[in-house]
Amino acid sequence: MQEIKMSRPYKLRRVKYCRELFFKPAGIRMANLQKVILEADEYEAIRFADVNCLSYEEAGRKMNISRQTFGRIIERAREKIADAIVNCKAILITTKGPVRMMKVSFICLKCGYKWSDIMSNSKVCPECKEPLDFPVKV
Ligand SMILES: [Zn+2]
Repeated sequence: MQEIKMSRPYKLRRVKYCRELFFKPAGIRMANLQKVILEADEYEAIRFADVNCLSYEEAGRKMNISRQTFGRIIERAREKIADAIVNCKAILITTKGPVRMMKVSFICLKCGYKWSDIMSNSKVCPECKEPLDFPVKV
């Protein structure tokens, strides 16, 4: 029987919060800047470990990956951010990466309408069409 080489199935990281964001050092022209790209799973890892102070174990569970995998992702994310800060590079946060977006809950502060959807930069209330610049978790 012929051996079939199969690549290891890639486990998608479960991500709830991701936004397209761009940080640029002040006073330096874009053309003269190098960019660091932070993928959606790396951004989520920073949020869990360094903002919400979850353990790697807990954060990994939330992202549906092992503690070890989480450890690798957070390490890479911190390296990228450190590189940007120390070496004066721009940081581009993307909504791309090996991720599966989860829906989050929103509430419109104008009309009170509640719904769930994936995160994105621009949201409008499906009911009253009020633009939300920052979605509120229900
Ligand atoms: Zn509304």
